[in-house]
Order: sequence, then C-alpha cells, then structure tokens
Amino acid sequence: MKIARISRRHEHLPLTRPYTIAFRSIDAVDNAIVRVETETGHAGLGAASPEAFVTGEAFAATLAALDAEATRWLAGADVRALPALCRAIAAKLRATPAAAAALDMALHDLFAQLLGLPLCETLGRVHTAFPTSITIGIKPLEAALAEAREYVERGFTILKVKGGHSLDEDVARLRALRQAFGGAVAIRVDLNQGYTLEQTGAFFARTAGLDIELVEQPVKAAAAGELRALPEDARRRIALDESILTEKDALALAAPPAPAGIFNIKLMKCGGIAPALRIAAIAEHAGISLMWGCMDESRISIAAALHAALASPATAYLDLDGSFDLARDVAAGGFTVEGGVMRALAAPGLGVAAI
Ligand SMILES: [Mg+2]
Repeated sequence: MKIARISRRHEHLPLTRPYTIAFRSIDAVDNAIVRVETETGHAGLGAASPEAFVTGEAFAATLAALDAEATRWLAGADVRALPALCRAIAAKLRATPAAAAALDMALHDLFAQLLGLPLCETLGRVHTAFPTSITIGIKPLEAALAEAREYVERGFTILKVKGGHSLDEDVARLRALRQAFGGAVAIRVDLNQGYTLEQTGAFFARTAGLDIELVEQPVKAAAAGELRALPEDARRRIALDESILTEKDALALAAPPAPAGIFNIKLMKCGGIAPALRIAAIAEHAGISLMWGCMDESRISIAAALHAALASPATAYLDLDGSFDLARDVAAGGFTVEGGVMRALAAPGLGVAAI
C-alpha cells in the first residue's frame, strides 16, 4: 500500500457559537485538511487545527509544513511501515505539531483501512464509549445558565465551564449552575492559566461543597510544578492541559509527588496519535488519569482523538466537543453522539468520509 500523493487545503470554518476563554475570544477557526492517497485508490484523511497561543504554531506554518514540497518525502512510502513513518513525521515536524498530527492520523486511517478494522481496534481497544463534556465559555451568569439548560436538554451530562478572569465571578457562576441542576450534571472547570497558586488554593476552598469534578490548568503552563504545594486531594482533581505538550512534559510532570492527577492530551499539541499513546503510557504507569481534549476541529481529527482515547487504559475523561459548533464541516461520520456519549463508528479506519 504505497502512498501515491498527498494534498492539503485550507478551510476557514465559522462557529455557530462564538466564545471567550481566559486568553482570547473565538468566532471562526482555520483548519488544514490533509488527504493521503495510495496507489490502491484508498484515501486517508487528517486535519490540523493549531493553537498558536499554546504551541507557538502559526497557521501559516501549519500550511507550509503540509505543502507539496514539504511532504514529498512521504510519496512512495509503504503505509504498512506506520510506526517508522510516524517517527519520521515527529522528527521532521517537531515545530508544527498540528501539521504532524494531520499526517499521523491520515496514515493511521489508511493503516486501519488496510486491516479492515476501526482504528481503535488496531490500537488495542479497551473502552466502548465515553461521555464527553460540552464547554460553556466565560459569560455572564444568566447567559451561562441558559446555555447549560440547552445542553442538558440535548442530553449532555457533563458541563465544562471556562473561567480564569475573576475568582469571585467563577465561584458565583459555578454555585448558580450547581443550584440549578443539583446532582443531574457533572461540572468541570477550565481556568486556562488564569489563576496564581494562591487563587487556586482559594478556589478549591470556596468550591468545596460544589462537587467540582476536575479543575483544568489553573496556573501558567510553566508554573505547573508549583501546584505540588497543594494538598493531595486538590492535586488529584487538577488536569494539566497547556503544561503537557510533549512526552518530555508528561515525564517531568508525572514524577512524584505529581502536581496533577490528570493529563489532558490533545493531538494538536503532541503531534498525533503515536505520540499521544506514548504520553498515555507514561500517565498509565504513573497512576495519572487521562482526559482527551481538542481545539475547534473538523470531525476528522475529533474522530482520531476518540479512537486513541478508546485504546488507552488510563482514559477517564473525554472533552471532544470541538466539532459540535462548526457551522459546516468537511467530513461526515467518525463517531456518534447520543445523550452526550461518544462512540466510534464500526467502519474501517477513522470511519470519516469527505463531504
Ligand atoms: Mg483546556
């Protein structure tokens, strides 16, 4: 199964629901869509949605890393040599992890198609399905409550609430949500580096009765080590996102006493499924749980993350809502969402089809 050609295109995808997080507001997203065709007529799909604020990868660099010149070395390669090809992608595209992820997932798609199995089966599936959280951006209390009500009516059972601008407003919003929904929903919080260590400690104290499931990235990415000063029951519920880009980060932050009990893996940060599963192995052996997250992405790369998540024993949380608010997508399939529960399709590969 030799690779015949690789093409990529730029898609500007407006969002149906613009939102604000601690470091910026977003109303549309740029994705690079990759198509890898083989001499046998198969096509593997990939998508890149770089987050320059987190990884330093500008979209122009993503496009350049995926153009005909830059990907020529892959032409003629045999898809059956998947691990070696993924290692080469990781080495060549180190500075552009989202571009690397797009190529890595397109090759995984082809590899699993070759075997005639859903990708998660070829990776060693351990889970059948997981509920995903759905995200509420930073907004006034009444608007946050209205959005939460809509999600609960749509069947979602886990709300991920963005915060990090104001400790007082964050606590008030969470208290109102817990009052409105009682025990009917799980509530996660993502502070996107918005707090200091002292504010993080205060946040845990002030939300102690609100049954907050986990608290994502309270402090600056480089300050994660400071969280070791928090009591163990708080650290266990902290998920590191912006602090965990690569396997090296995972190794450093898995060392006991671990500053967090949860790592948030995103294909766009680490460079694809192969490195994601290496981070997953580090976490598994350190007793750290995994949350699988995403940027605003086509369902191509959301499906890729889901397949990988279903194949890791350490997976405990999904946050793969990144394609739900795209006004249009470039592919169909990949997964189903019912009552907030995501399942991979039984089709070979990623199970996505271009539209
Ligand atoms: Mg996050």
